Amino acid sequence: MRCYYHTASDAVAVCMYCHRGVCTECAAEVEKGIACKDRCEDEVAAVMGYTAKLGQQLAVNRTSNLGWSVWFLILGLILTIGGVALFWLDIDRGYGVGAFAAGVFLVLAGLLSLYAARRSIRDLRSD
Ligand SMILES: [Zn+2]
Ligand SMILES: [Zn+2]
Repeated sequence: MRCYYHTASDAVAVCMYCHRGVCTECAAEVEKGIACKDRCEDEVAAVMGYTAKLGQQLAVNRTSNLGWSVWFLILGLILTIGGVALFWLDIDRGYGVGAFAAGVFLVLAGLLSLYAARRSIRDLRSD
């Protein structure tokens, strides 16, 4: 690809705003993005700023998922222990088995969403 502004020069990058090839002379680095020097710098800065904001919002959403996972785990553990106690102490065996099963299910769901939330946060940080 040739530089859009200097047809004699090879393009080394593509402007993130107008998608034209730019040579080393015309490329300007703006917030980790490439822009045409003196032409698209402001536009690329705006696009990169918007993308960064979107990423922060996603991170916030994922962190609140983490809170749900913890509640699942706590509720699941209470049900599991309660179920075992009901069964073990012979208070209500049928109810105990039901609570135990529901508790194990909640703990598993909590662990799974905790794992998923942690992994997506790590992905986000490595960007
Ligand atoms: Zn451009
Ligand atoms: Zn050029």
